[in-house]
Amino acid sequence: MKCPFCGHLENKVIDSRLSKDGGVIRRRRDCDECGRRFTTYERIEEVLPMVIKKDGRRELFDRGKLFAGLKRACEKRPVGVEDLERIGIREVCLRLQAVQGHKPVYG
Ligand SMILES: [Zn+2]
Repeated sequence: MKCPFCGHLENKVIDSRLSKDGGVIRRRRDCDECGRRFTTYERIEEVLPMVIKKDGRRELFDRGKLFAGLKRACEKRPVGVEDLERIGIREVCLRLQAVQGHKPVYG
């Protein structure tokens, strides 16, 4: 991590602290070159799959849109909203999370 003051790349971590919700790690760093201190934050990268539309446009996967589409498709069938939520959406989202780079296609 480059020092924001002198641009040097080497530094020591002098303190590491986990945020209250456990989602972020805050690190105090001490630059090996100029000795000044700065802070970095580490968090998990959000992996959101992209969806390729029929016309070729790309957009971020949207759970709400998928749900609306499934609801429309099941309108005249004996499938309740709870069933869709429980089986359909959850399953699809889990699979998307499991298969990186997978590109679902809808509407
Ligand atoms: Zn420095």
